[in-house]
Amino acid sequence: MGSRGDLHTHSTFSDGVLTPTELIELAYRRGVRVMALTDHDTTDGLPEAFEAAARHPDFTLIPGIEMSTDVPGSEVHVLGHFIDWQDREFQSRLVHLRESRLGRARRIVEKLGELGKPVPWERVASFAGEGAVGRPHIAQALVEAGHVATVNEAFDLYISRNGPAYVERERLTPIEVVDILTSVEGLPTLAHPRDLDDLEELLGRLKEAGLVGMEVYYQDYPPEEVERLRILAERFDLLPLGGSDYHGLGGPSQREPGDIPLPDGPLERLLSLARDRGSLERV
Ligand SMILES: [Zn+2]
Ligand SMILES: [Zn+2]
Repeated sequence: MGSRGDLHTHSTFSDGVLTPTELIELAYRRGVRVMALTDHDTTDGLPEAFEAAARHPDFTLIPGIEMSTDVPGSEVHVLGHFIDWQDREFQSRLVHLRESRLGRARRIVEKLGELGKPVPWERVASFAGEGAVGRPHIAQALVEAGHVATVNEAFDLYISRNGPAYVERERLTPIEVVDILTSVEGLPTLAHPRDLDDLEELLGRLKEAGLVGMEVYYQDYPPEEVERLRILAERFDLLPLGGSDYHGLGGPSQREPGDIPLPDGPLERLLSLARDRGSLERV
């Protein structure tokens, strides 16, 4: 039995393989009745998603987003639920972010050419599809061109943080992203926190900035990990939320939409927070 809620999913508008419509149909068939579409740094899939969701009167679509942020040595992802996604300033901020990523991907491809490992930009763009171009797509092009055997090798040899073709990207801190999300009435949640260093210190700072929840039920997190995170969420007065982070790419940790043990209690608390703020009427 899956859960009624899934608060973390991706479509073709970022790096998922299903269109928003296909994703919602799949989630619905699997028993999900409250789903957030949380594409990376874009809300462009939401108009289609709302259209698809409208076909099922007992289905609630939460307008969401997943934003990447940087901390020294690693990345932290923050989800925003119930964002006022049509806010003009918010949208121009997202456009700027995506353009700076595109420029960065082009510079990485240029550097690869200088290193004697050329990849055609068209191939990189086609691996990205409708989604934002990123290093995984460049890695796929490197494999296809025969410069490396695997995506991992592409990262290890060329495009990881210490690789010769690496280019820095525009950085946002987790606090800045929590502020951005809060400014559009979003309810921010820390995504997949298991492997983050200094998690407690980060939670303290983010809670103060307005963090509302933390992903506790996630993909293949085993029960003891879920329990550890649940206690931590309780200690910081955060909602213990979760999602499948469904991309449709397969792989050992991939779960189907709704295939996470997210209980109804925290889901209802999230919905009632949104109701209190008047965000549910917008949905
Ligand atoms: Zn993520
Ligand atoms: Zn994700």
